[in-house]
Amino acid sequence: MKSPAKAHAPSAPYRPDRAATAAAALRTATRAAVVTRGLRKLAESTQPSWMPPRAALRKLDGDIVQAEHDGALEMARSSLQRRIRAHLDARLDLVLTDNRYTMISVRRDPSRAHYKLRLHHMFADASPAVTRAIARYVAENDPGSSRMLGDYIDEHQHRVRPRVEPRPRRLVSRGDVHDLQAIFDELNEDYFDGRIDARITWGPRTRRRRPRKSIKMGSYSLEERLIRIHRTLDRPEVPEYFVAWIVFHEMLHQVFEAPVVNGRRQFHPPEFLQAEATYARYAEAKRWERDNLELLLTY
Ligand SMILES: [Zn+2]
Repeated sequence: MKSPAKAHAPSAPYRPDRAATAAAALRTATRAAVVTRGLRKLAESTQPSWMPPRAALRKLDGDIVQAEHDGALEMARSSLQRRIRAHLDARLDLVLTDNRYTMISVRRDPSRAHYKLRLHHMFADASPAVTRAIARYVAENDPGSSRMLGDYIDEHQHRVRPRVEPRPRRLVSRGDVHDLQAIFDELNEDYFDGRIDARITWGPRTRRRRPRKSIKMGSYSLEERLIRIHRTLDRPEVPEYFVAWIVFHEMLHQVFEAPVVNGRRQFHPPEFLQAEATYARYAEAKRWERDNLELLLTY
């Protein structure tokens, strides 16, 4: 889309005085049109006239790729550029970003005649006070404006796209010796009426064969609903009932929410420990662990 200034650029030979007069007239006319349009919009809704359409903003906060595709991004960008530019006596190139970490960045031409500004799209509907602060920050790196923008960014964190979940890694439930899925399924049947909804995998293989100080034989990730079992247990010397005991413990973490007691999250509340003790070979497993700790720590 052409800007009004370009569309009406004088085609006659350049004469500074006339060109200046024409440009001034055009500016006045454009401003009048903007004001009229603004007033009409204001009458139509409670949305401030400086703000890009709400539908466009919603698209920016939703799918920015889609917003770019159907012009909402450009609409918001040119509107914001115009509003910031109103406070600047220089050329301004604005890009709206969907960054996660950098909300504002500016490149200042040494002559201060041209600024390249990148802003997160959270600024698309920034108020006049904020757009003025952006201009001051751009032109003067003014600390007061910088603080104001910092506060604005804090208040609009929810508009920053959330971190993309890491690609789920391949799950390996069949080990060299023990089959975790089979163990899990049997426990689920015997103790939980099949109600535990989780995936299970062996942890990564490690190379070291020196004794460790401690070892985490299993873990349960609430977010991923994933049980991980340490590879140290995938050995012929480790009896299956012991592996099952570790798996059983991790399955219980899905049953018992960890309550916060005295400010600390209690992962193994008394009910958890009681349930744990219902494992058929509980005493045996405990004993085996005590007698074979050295073996387990060396992996
Ligand atoms: Zn635990």
